[in-house]
Amino acid sequence: MARRQIASLFELAEKEAMNSRQDRADRYVYLARKTAMRYNLSLGIYRRHFCRKCGAFLVPGRNSTYRLNMGKISVTCGNCGRIYRFPYGSSANGTLEKGRGEESNRNDETGEKEVKE
Ligand SMILES: [Zn+2]
Repeated sequence: MARRQIASLFELAEKEAMNSRQDRADRYVYLARKTAMRYNLSLGIYRRHFCRKCGAFLVPGRNSTYRLNMGKISVTCGNCGRIYRFPYGSSANGTLEKGRGEESNRNDETGEKEVKE
């Protein structure tokens, strides 16, 4: 199933990132995003683990900075400098979220303009 596939791709990305294989981690992110796109799935919790601009897998303290700010998490990509903001606490359960309606709300909160086909 595609959702499982995406989850394991991010697990692999994390593993590679831990081993300082950033290039491989980025590659898994790319594959996960491609899979998500093909099946029209949202990446849920994983959205905050990579940069949507340059596609880098983000590792806190290494290539990204996580800051808690007014109840939101600011994530700065150390690769390209893009800043993302996520509401704090929601989707802390580590699962892909079930509905896609929830997803569009979350886009508004991040102030992102993401074009969905
Ligand atoms: Zn970036």
